[in-house]
Amino acid sequence: MSERPFTSTSFQQYLAEHRLMATRCGTCGALHLPPRPLCPSCFGEAISWEEMSGSGHLKAFTTIHIAPTAMIEAGYGRNNPYCTGVVELDEGPAISAQILGVDASHPQGIAVGIRLSVTFVERGQGDGRHTLLGFQPAVG
Ligand SMILES: [Zn+2]
Repeated sequence: MSERPFTSTSFQQYLAEHRLMATRCGTCGALHLPPRPLCPSCFGEAISWEEMSGSGHLKAFTTIHIAPTAMIEAGYGRNNPYCTGVVELDEGPAISAQILGVDASHPQGIAVGIRLSVTFVERGQGDGRHTLLGFQPAVG
């Protein structure tokens, strides 16, 4: 089985397939997300893809009222803020992503430490269609 190259393009392709993939260093065992073609810990090149469970918890977050263009096109902005956060996965690595299913208008109601699970957000049309990584509160 040939592996996809360890690039952000491959990471995006996996997201489009609704898979959250990290890279594992075969030398020191470190897990990296976003993927790295070379281990930054030991400079090992024995890298392989590893699928994450998508479960984790919220480490930090912020709510955004002044949205970048892509988010304005998705309907966010001053009157409809959104939440972005750092999620620490159960496997260890942390990644920043949009946090859905929380009330970004009332950030005092969003608690660091809540359990989250991965979700995949489809945006755009035609050639501009792409999948974004998101997380939402875990049920149960
Ligand atoms: Zn390593």
